[in-house]
Amino acid sequence: MFQPIDLSVFLACMVGVVLLGLLCLQAWYDRRDSLLSDHRRLSTVFSCRECALVFVRPRRREEASCPQCGASNTRLKF
Ligand SMILES: [Zn+2]
Repeated sequence: MFQPIDLSVFLACMVGVVLLGLLCLQAWYDRRDSLLSDHRRLSTVFSCRECALVFVRPRRREEASCPQCGASNTRLKF
């Protein structure tokens, strides 16, 4: 049922499997870094003018209400 294979063919297959695994890992890390970068880049920082709380809201927006006191604040501009 099983046929013996040459050692060089077996090693070539193992090297191919390892290289394929490394390529998959690289693609996974690239996608993860891209998603994390987008998440950080698209967040907006606010500083409450009433209670001085600094907070972050997802996505780009000009106004957000403070989670502590509820006051409406405009985004920080650097
Ligand atoms: Zn506040």
